[in-house]
Amino acid sequence: MINVTVFNEFKHEKEVDAVKAIYPDGIHNALKRGLEDEAVSVKTVTLDDENCGITDELLENTDVFIWWGHMAHHLVPDEIAEKVKNAVLKGMGIIFLHSSHHSKPFKLLMGTSCNLTWREDGDRELVWVCNPSHPIAQGIGRFIHLEHEETYGEPFGIPEPDELVFIGNFEGGEVFRAGCCWRKEYGKVFYFQPGHETFPIFHNRQILKVIKNAIHWAKPGYRVSELECPHVKKPLED
Ligand code: ZN
Repeated sequence: MINVTVFNEFKHEKEVDAVKAIYPDGIHNALKRGLEDEAVSVKTVTLDDENCGITDELLENTDVFIWWGHMAHHLVPDEIAEKVKNAVLKGMGIIFLHSSHHSKPFKLLMGTSCNLTWREDGDRELVWVCNPSHPIAQGIGRFIHLEHEETYGEPFGIPEPDELVFIGNFEGGEVFRAGCCWRKEYGKVFYFQPGHETFPIFHNRQILKVIKNAIHWAKPGYRVSELECPHVKKPLED
């Protein structure tokens, strides 16, 4: 069983009727319903939980973390973001969705601005598979057609991905590195661009398939309980 924890800031769904209509019980519960199966078990936590619901114990028992945030990144305490980053360095997998490009843990892991260009026009997006042999692209075909998405465009202020799986192409002409993979010490990181809150992106079967593939890809292969820098005084050979 792969243990997944979804963090959702859960603000738009309470405050904006158009978002509530799409996700009446929150993006986290839509993801839980869409992702759970005989191999994947999903817990959810939100910003209003004490310390975002994120404890050391939760992180130790999480194989893959999923993060969705947008308007309240600044309300996530720095020490919580640091804990999440360290859990990744020690081997936990993590998936950042859409506007989580500006979340504290993503920025800590990337070490860059993570800025991009954006526009809310409801552009049609084609999410093109540019790496068909990659485990995250399996079962997707050539592209995912999204009738409406928030437009994200390059330049995207990230370090060069270790692997690029998807490129988004928008009606207005923009392109965007929509599915990016990195290894960060012992952990794996996947960023996936679709997921604006006013469109039913997390009800789309292909989008859920990508996230599920990413869960299987990011699950820990090797995990340590501490990051150590041991002083080895004795040489191996005299
Ligand atoms: Zn958005």
